[in-house]
Amino acid sequence: MPRPLRARVDLAAIAANLAVLRRHAGAARLMAVAKADAYGHGLQRCLPALRAADGVAVVEIAQAMGLREAGFQGTVLLLEGAFDEHELTVCAHHRLAVVVHEATQLDHLSRARLPRPLQVWLKLNSGMNRLGFRPGAFTRARAVLETAVNVESLVLMTHFASADRVDGVADALALFERACAGAPVPRSCANSAALLRHPAARGDWVRPGIAVYGASPFEQDDDPAALGLRPVMELVSEVISVQALERGDAVGYGGAFVADRPMRVGIVACGYADGYPRHAPTGTPVVVAGAITGTLGRVSMDLLAVDLTPLPEAGVGSPVELWGPNLSVDTVARAAGTVGYELLCALAPRVPVSVVSAPD
Ligand SMILES: *Cc1c(COP(=O)(O)O)cnc(C)c1O
Repeated sequence: MPRPLRARVDLAAIAANLAVLRRHAGAARLMAVAKADAYGHGLQRCLPALRAADGVAVVEIAQAMGLREAGFQGTVLLLEGAFDEHELTVCAHHRLAVVVHEATQLDHLSRARLPRPLQVWLKLNSGMNRLGFRPGAFTRARAVLETAVNVESLVLMTHFASADRVDGVADALALFERACAGAPVPRSCANSAALLRHPAARGDWVRPGIAVYGASPFEQDDDPAALGLRPVMELVSEVISVQALERGDAVGYGGAFVADRPMRVGIVACGYADGYPRHAPTGTPVVVAGAITGTLGRVSMDLLAVDLTPLPEAGVGSPVELWGPNLSVDTVARAAGTVGYELLCALAPRVPVSVVSAPD
């Protein structure tokens, strides 16, 4: 039997999440954001379910071309745009839409001799100060693009810095709406948090990422089920060793956990080299044989320790869920001082992944 650690990716959960997001989106089209190899789930693996979206957004041009090679006919958007003129030509050949967020990209697009014009998503910096033009430059760029021979159609976009907060989009949205005034051009601004909590930000294209994979975009609210979302990734392993501790015995590197009473400790085949967060402290929740318990001591490269004291029936071979339908990745992330996004994206290549399509 191989090492028992494996991830399962549930395509039926993606389909169910997309249906929930569609309801929030109303008449807006849905761009499933699938950067970082579909948030660690594997873009090609998820594609059969992602086909239900109107578009898929990625960062690397190779991932975008992979979507076309797999026959995806919807919009494919490069979220950071093309990095040089050559990439623009590739985009034209494969009908890839590009974000234009910066003056150099505008120059490249104006100069390039393309076999066919592109769909361009012009990006406003609405206060995040990462990518995008400020309002004045945005208006000038828009005027250039509206008459550019290399532009087939235009979408106006921005990205919110704080859509996870109750009052998080008002200022940015007002700025975006002012910048978009004039001729009707499709607009796009809503990530998962904005789509779920700020209906006014819907626009013509919504761009959910994390919610597609059934995790929560809200740091303070780590229950995706309350949002109607189903976790797509399940990370499971088994107990491969059991240790009986006396009072005063320590567990793992640095002896960071010391038993204050006799305890049973299960050693699980999963460590930080698999993508489990090394910073998860003692007590980080984990499901063993269907019951919640906690980790003990430091997570090591290939192993972690869990408390089996409350689970006398559990032993070598007991199933372990690190995260999944019974324990949200957001809960584990919160315990480890991070967000579900980071844990999902960090799933290591060495972890075997199987695709399941559980019935609803
Ligand atoms: C990542 C990203 C999204 C999706 O964000 P989520 O919080 O995962 O929904 C949307 N738009 C842009 C520009 C992004 O970079």
